[in-house]
Amino acid sequence: MIDFNKLKKILTENNSFLLTTHVNPDADAIGSEIALYNLLKLLNKEVFVVNHSSTPYNLDFLDEQKVIQKYDKEKHKNLLNSVDVLVGLDFNRSDRLVSMQDDFLNSEKLKIIIDHHLDREEFVNHLFVDTEYCATGHIIYDFIKQTSIVKLNYSIAYPLYTAIMTDTGSFRFERTTSEIHKIAAEMLETGVNPTEVYDKVYDQGKFGKMKLLGKALESLKLYGDSKEISYMVLNRDDFKTSNSIESDTDTFVNFSLAFENVKIGILFIELKQGFKVSFRSKGNIPVNELAAEFGGGGHKNASGLRITDGKMEDFISKILSKAEQYLERN
Ligand code: 5GP
Ligand code: MN
Repeated sequence: MIDFNKLKKILTENNSFLLTTHVNPDADAIGSEIALYNLLKLLNKEVFVVNHSSTPYNLDFLDEQKVIQKYDKEKHKNLLNSVDVLVGLDFNRSDRLVSMQDDFLNSEKLKIIIDHHLDREEFVNHLFVDTEYCATGHIIYDFIKQTSIVKLNYSIAYPLYTAIMTDTGSFRFERTTSEIHKIAAEMLETGVNPTEVYDKVYDQGKFGKMKLLGKALESLKLYGDSKEISYMVLNRDDFKTSNSIESDTDTFVNFSLAFENVKIGILFIELKQGFKVSFRSKGNIPVNELAAEFGGGGHKNASGLRITDGKMEDFISKILSKAEQYLERN
């Protein structure tokens, strides 16, 4: 249970805030930032939003007023030491801040996290974390309803709806409860248009993204004795020839689970520096634990890891055989 009264006290009793989120932000990350920004502005607070990564182009529509800044050590170091509160959204491990990590950790200001991931690290003053929530945006919604800190208006509901829609896989993942549908209904009543939100997030990608998806699907393979693991691999060349970028791969991993028999789906993505791996599972297989074996984390059925100082091809078979152990154990 999150102590929402304590969170309300922190937000109302302080005057300036810096909001941030994890590397390679998704719609829950950006949506939660924008919703909390709009909430704090209604309370007449001074608010900055600063992220390690730039906002993926398909989520730029959420930042209508262009309040999100990309972190620049020179420019922002003092800011991290001058606002009253640093607020981390949608992550709970400090390495997810990448270039902001040191300055965040070294700041003497009050630090809080609002998040719904497992395996939290104790690196802030207050962790408002509950893994029962389907999205960080869902936590913010509940916070607003339970404390009445502001009224849920369109400018807050719009980014929160986007956060919940995406983190529930468009209302189909495990934590899509009747309550979630009631929340969505309430958001639609404020004017949120579900057709428009889905279109903006998922159907306005670049042509190259579709070509890249083709390459990912082309690479699809089955692994293990029972053929219950499937995986795809994208290398730098695939990005170059399709003229696409890392954030274009956002939903690709879901295809690795979208057919019969398969229980673990994996997507390996070679980055300019190192690589990342996305894991998805069906049922009781805890891919967050699998990812944690290699320094990553996440949720039971959706996790990931990022290695900046290693070569992808050296890890693929290691990760696949570890995945098979998780399959056998569960
Ligand atoms: P995705 O595969 O969509 O990038 O990530 C799925 C989930 O895995 C995310 O919601 C996040 O919780 C987790 N995740 C992804 N990459 C990392 C990582 O590098 N470190 C940790 N701790 N978690 C990650
Ligand atoms: Mn999330």
